[in-house]
Amino acid sequence: MKEQLAIFGGTPVRSEKIYYGRQWINEDDVKAVSEVLTSDYLTTGPRAAQLEAELCAYTGASYATVCANGTAALHIAAMAAGIGEGDEVITTALTFMASANCALYCGAVPVFADIDRETYNIDPASIEARITNKTKAVVAVDYAGCSIDHAAIRDICDRHGLIFIEDAAHAIGTSDHGKMVGSIADMTCFSFHPVKTVTAGEGGAVLTNNAEYHHKLQILRSHGIEHEEEFMTEAPHEGPWYYEQQMLGYNYRLTDFQSALLSSQLKRIDMFAGRRKAIAARYDEAFGELPGIILQQELPDTDSVRHLYEIRLDFDVLACTRREFFDAMSAENVQCQIHYVPVYWMPYYKRLGHKEGECPVCEEIYRGILSIPFYPKMTDRDVEDTIHAVRKIVEYYRK
Ligand SMILES: *Cc1c(COP(=O)(O)O)cnc(C)c1O
Repeated sequence: MKEQLAIFGGTPVRSEKIYYGRQWINEDDVKAVSEVLTSDYLTTGPRAAQLEAELCAYTGASYATVCANGTAALHIAAMAAGIGEGDEVITTALTFMASANCALYCGAVPVFADIDRETYNIDPASIEARITNKTKAVVAVDYAGCSIDHAAIRDICDRHGLIFIEDAAHAIGTSDHGKMVGSIADMTCFSFHPVKTVTAGEGGAVLTNNAEYHHKLQILRSHGIEHEEEFMTEAPHEGPWYYEQQMLGYNYRLTDFQSALLSSQLKRIDMFAGRRKAIAARYDEAFGELPGIILQQELPDTDSVRHLYEIRLDFDVLACTRREFFDAMSAENVQCQIHYVPVYWMPYYKRLGHKEGECPVCEEIYRGILSIPFYPKMTDRDVEDTIHAVRKIVEYYRK
């Protein structure tokens, strides 16, 4: 017998609401932050540099620049890549709009490639189809933390002389053919927002193996100010206080107490990643064979630490709309979220000339997906309640 849905007066699967994502802060994190608060430096002290070294050690990248947030990371990466007026930047539409906005910040034009219907990541064939003589870079997003096809994108970028920027806001800890995300693209951007795998409250980073990009990233983070004598142009200078603004940068610095919070979180990243993988494995098992639900596929030889877990409704099997499914989940006290409304559907992008229909696969996938609760601090009970709610609603609406 079908269980009565809570939305129609049945008993909800749980009494307390559970959300799609949340941070996990412990006493060590609190201690790490408070130690910095009573130290000499609140910002531009030793902790940001220490964090940069830790991010390099974790990912295998040669250089890291930490900054105010993931959006700032994308902005300075686009600037360091030399993206400017008249350039085109190819990205995905199934992302947070910051992945595309970074091109606009630089006066360039974002161009949306379609996604692969299995992985939901940017489709290399669609990138290739969107290349013009104005294309300067690709911003590829590891959607939900699942690895992009690095080898295919690298090959396209090499053949067309494009810069490969990876928006890995979802994907710290993910690897592809044994290489960690952060060490693969020309520049890789992370976000440390509270819903991401590790958090600094707000924070971001750009990782690269390229010394020239790294130097630009370091000065763009702080007004474009050059402190190193070898890069100064107005020598001989007057004294040790001397500095030169060489580029138009921003104040995108990360504070020392935020850096300390992230360093403390990084000590537990293997535990966070392990717990995310265990929950994903349990969901895969519960939904893999469930008619009505389609799952995002990972590429072979990749090892993904997911940030989101997506279920996709199969409308050939289910007699409901996504909105009805979403509301029914909510009534069961399992709050889902939708990631993401295609970027070019935004009124701002439409005013720039974008139109619905630009990326048909992306739009089709978008219409069926929901992010279900997924974060390391979830208890096994929370996971089972989420599975119960999904099954209950699928069974109710199965044709
Ligand atoms: C979170 C996120 C960003 C932006 O990061 P912030 O730290 O919030 O500025 C960029 N791209 C993607 C894909 C994200 O999920």
